[in-house]
Amino acid sequence: MIIFSAPSGAGKTTIVQHLLKVFPELEFSVSACSRPMRKGETNGVDYYFISLEEFKEKIKNNEFAEYEEVYKDNYYGTLKSEIEHIWKKGKHIIFDMDVMGGLNLRLQFGENALAIFVMPPSIEHLEQRLNSRETETPESIARRIGKAEQELKKAELFDKIILNDNLEHALDEAEKIVFDFLNKK
Ligand code: 5GP
Repeated sequence: MIIFSAPSGAGKTTIVQHLLKVFPELEFSVSACSRPMRKGETNGVDYYFISLEEFKEKIKNNEFAEYEEVYKDNYYGTLKSEIEHIWKKGKHIIFDMDVMGGLNLRLQFGENALAIFVMPPSIEHLEQRLNSRETETPESIARRIGKAEQELKKAELFDKIILNDNLEHALDEAEKIVFDFLNKK
């Protein structure tokens, strides 16, 4: 499995989407989450959108490989069933998740996992990117920036760090890292 983590707005989703086009042997792990669906998102494709109650029920039933309350009352988690389903197809899994979730999965899956941190050029840059998303409110931007400052301190714990100061270079580097990992097996 290949795990991409980064502060919100660092560009990890763009990188993950690119890798999915380049490597047909990869499949995206669709997480469950309790936040409302945004315009343009599809249930079962971007996330499994479930209620907070349903999420808590699944925690109780031990259905998650990992989960985090990424923002207050907004839970995100990887269902064990999702991992099993993708591996059964003989595919490698690619994850897009927050930093704590990424480190957690990396610890659980050891050598079978590669954890990659996408580093934004600066906090100011992150703020600009979040401002340009039409879906964020001033409060959600402030919340995401506050979390990002903490997350940057964890970068060194990842197997690889990709600096995303130039998207084209970041995509090339990501391709190379993933290629090497898949072909090491
Ligand atoms: P967003 O609301 O912008 O889609 O996602 C917020 C954050 O939650 C992002 O950093 C995203 O990567 C993270 N996230 C998405 N799925 C998961 C998951 O399954 N587990 C964890 N721990 N974080 C996730």
